[in-house]
Amino acid sequence: MKWYKERMTSMGIPLVDLNAQYQSIKEEVNAAVSGVINSGKFIMGKHVREFEENFAQYSGSKFAISVANGTDALVIALKALGIGPGDEIVTTPFTFFATCEAIVQCGAKPVFADIDAYTYNIDPDAIKKCVTGATKAIIPVHIFGNPANMDSILEVAQEYRLIVVEDACQAVGANYKGKKVGTIGDAGCFSFFPSKNLGCCGDGGMIITDSEKVAVMARALRSHGGGEDGAKAYRLLYGCETGEIPDKYNNYLVGYNSRLDEMQAAILNVKLRYIDRWNQLRRQKAYYYNARLKDYPFITPKEEEPAEAVYHIYTLRTNQRDKIIRSLKEKGIEARVYYHIPLHLQKALGFLGYRKGDFINTETVIEEMFSIPMYPELTVKEQDYIIDAMIDSLE
Ligand SMILES: *Cc1c(COP(=O)(O)O)cnc(C)c1O
Repeated sequence: MKWYKERMTSMGIPLVDLNAQYQSIKEEVNAAVSGVINSGKFIMGKHVREFEENFAQYSGSKFAISVANGTDALVIALKALGIGPGDEIVTTPFTFFATCEAIVQCGAKPVFADIDAYTYNIDPDAIKKCVTGATKAIIPVHIFGNPANMDSILEVAQEYRLIVVEDACQAVGANYKGKKVGTIGDAGCFSFFPSKNLGCCGDGGMIITDSEKVAVMARALRSHGGGEDGAKAYRLLYGCETGEIPDKYNNYLVGYNSRLDEMQAAILNVKLRYIDRWNQLRRQKAYYYNARLKDYPFITPKEEEPAEAVYHIYTLRTNQRDKIIRSLKEKGIEARVYYHIPLHLQKALGFLGYRKGDFINTETVIEEMFSIPMYPELTVKEQDYIIDAMIDSLE
């Protein structure tokens, strides 16, 4: 009780509490880290191989290719699927900047389609209206851990023969019709940024796919297109042998330095064992917020069958947003707006030529939305304290 009081008065309640999670698995994480340091093997060793196997098995995908971060996962997946200059990729303007940045890094052109105002995910009808002769792919983002409407997205993709790359960076472990997100499209991309549902102690990312061709290309691209992985990609691309015994200083295509390191892989092998339990706890917390707030003027998150969300972030909509955030802050509760600038209005993307008013649902949601603390270790008492503070601050 003393701990609880101290936390609420002096420390407050953060949006995410990474230390609480670390304390619960400290011995295992410390052993994993010191094991790697003692081994002296830091890049592309057994922990990376094991984590890729474990993650593929966990997801139910044939191949898992680890990379340095979620942004690179998107860039490398798109390149492995043959996306490049001249191609248009349809995605949502309501996401983290990296989704769009990855498209631009491939030399392709991002085209935005508006979201559904209640699931906050890309609207399949809006995607359809964006398709041109140059459209090659769709990147749905499972925003805040809530799976996008994949059935309708796949329908559009099939009709126009488009590739689907799932940005599942916020949604590890989320299900859609009993399948893990990331396994529904041609490739799925994940981030292990510390605050993500499955986070490492630094940067990390993963691509999953059932296509051997995509896996071979991605493996080559993540490590300078060199060595045995590069030679495999060469055989695939040119249909002939390299004519030499490849070592890592033989390069067969121009790629990246984008590997997950052994330390992060060892930590992730520990954490992967807990992810379902943690996600289950997040769902519990979300339903508790929903239930206690249902008679107040808040729009709570909508989980649309057959999607099962993992609540990376818990968001609400209200027209009293700014006042509520201020009064929560006064009570030591962290609250913030994800995302306060939609991508179509980001200065860096000004060259795309979009204007305010282009995406009404996105812009409306951004005016009303805010996020409150969400993590597996959040207690019912803390949730009650947050909920009471919100109700008190209503007009
Ligand atoms: C976190 C995130 C990314 C990028 O992942 P990094 O590991 O930070 O590079 C991409 N897309 C979405 C939706 C994300 O939330």
